[in-house]
Amino acid sequence: MAAKTTSFVVEIPLVTTSSDLAVIAARLESGRQLYNAVLAEGKTRLQLVRDSELYGKAKSIPKTENKARSVAFQKAREANRFSDYDLQAFANKTAIASVWIKSHLDANTIQKIATKAFKALERLMYGKAKKVRFKHKGQFASLEGKTNKQGIRWTGNGVEWSGLKLQAIISNDPIILHGLSSKIKYVRLVRRILNQKTYWFAQLICEGMPYQKPKNIIGEGTVGIDLGVATVAIVGDEETTWTPFAVELTSKQKEVRKLQRKMERQRRANNPDNYNSDGTAKKGKRRFKKSNRYNNTADKKREIERKQAAHRKSLHGKLVNQTLKLGKNIKAEKVSVKAWQKLFGKSIGFKSPTSFQSELKRKAENAGGTVLMFSTRKTALSQTCLCGHKQKKSLSQRVHHCSICGLKMQRDILSAYLSRYVDPKTETLLTEEARNSYSGMEQSLLDGWQNGSNQSTRTATSSKSPINSGSELMSSNPIARVRVASRREESEPERVNETHAVSWNPLRSRMG
Ligand SMILES: [Zn+2]
Repeated sequence: MAAKTTSFVVEIPLVTTSSDLAVIAARLESGRQLYNAVLAEGKTRLQLVRDSELYGKAKSIPKTENKARSVAFQKAREANRFSDYDLQAFANKTAIASVWIKSHLDANTIQKIATKAFKALERLMYGKAKKVRFKHKGQFASLEGKTNKQGIRWTGNGVEWSGLKLQAIISNDPIILHGLSSKIKYVRLVRRILNQKTYWFAQLICEGMPYQKPKNIIGEGTVGIDLGVATVAIVGDEETTWTPFAVELTSKQKEVRKLQRKMERQRRANNPDNYNSDGTAKKGKRRFKKSNRYNNTADKKREIERKQAAHRKSLHGKLVNQTLKLGKNIKAEKVSVKAWQKLFGKSIGFKSPTSFQSELKRKAENAGGTVLMFSTRKTALSQTCLCGHKQKKSLSQRVHHCSICGLKMQRDILSAYLSRYVDPKTETLLTEEARNSYSGMEQSLLDGWQNGSNQSTRTATSSKSPINSGSELMSSNPIARVRVASRREESEPERVNETHAVSWNPLRSRMG
């Protein structure tokens, strides 16, 4: 075996005609059948290993004698021909015996299928998996070569494989160009079903390190964040951003629930013996038959979930980079999804604020920044004014307007601002510091407020769901079902200017 080198993968879409699709489908199907055959044989051999005397002996060696023990286990496996190599031999024999399989697959691809099955069995052997899974038609979706010299091969502008020629769609993406200029170890063909259409991709397993994006700029300062269901306010040393949070994301809950119910119906229809006459499921471990239609529904559901997750990840990633640009020392309230769900319903979890926060934490710490996530309960920033006055606000009140000192500021932005002055040790607000820095930061906060409002008026739509429409929310109340007469006022840029005119002055305030 060649020495191990680092690898990375680039994926390139392929052009396929309907006859290409038919050819690959037949090859994939023979691959799947071969995989299942090898898996079944390997499973039997693994059982033989475990039942063998040699295995019993190996087990009796105390764990302190590590080396002797693993040599003994190795002997038990060898005696029962349980190895990658032996399963490859078995796969070859099986393919030749079936003729049909051999006519569809080349020797390298056959070997790699055996290795794939062996790896699954190895996981079972080491207790990393509870069982091995035989693949049904929807589940076996890739085939790969062993080298880029024989079998499945990359030619420079596409894939060739035993008479099949597939042109690639090569973009100018630097990630792909980097892959193409690297040494290709081997090629994997991957099927993806997107919107119920079949696409094939070439995955080039390349030698070396993946393409490094030019580093996102990371700021040095402190950033306070207020993450809400609808918007996020980010206050850096010199700049304030107030923007919708994952607003492009819509809940797929309904679609998913619909498919789940369909799956449940299909499962019942396919397995009437597993249910009592009153419709309840019979107790005990039972085998459930899965029809092709059931599997199709399951595939559809998976596809929706996959898309949703990918979209969310990319939106979160953008927002994380946007935040780090303002500074890498992060201070934010710990978001409680549970609290969100109490207010906005269970489905709000799809925005996954916690995964946003943990991604932010990871990246900030990687960049050498510090991260403080403090609990809401102690600080209650959303109720707190610079003057120290605490005032309970309803969620619909989007602007903080203090009855004592007269301070007026968009509430999320004020919360984010105050976050910057939370003491990491005590997790309490250093009111004095917050007050002293305010006049220097006020313009930046007001700019952030105004930019956010402009952005929301520009992109305003008449979306029905307030949760999904950040633009609506930015101008007013996140849970309002009824439009409040004053809501427009709150977001109008003129009003912001006016706010500025009567801006908070620490000297005027009682506490200042
Ligand atoms: Zn006040």
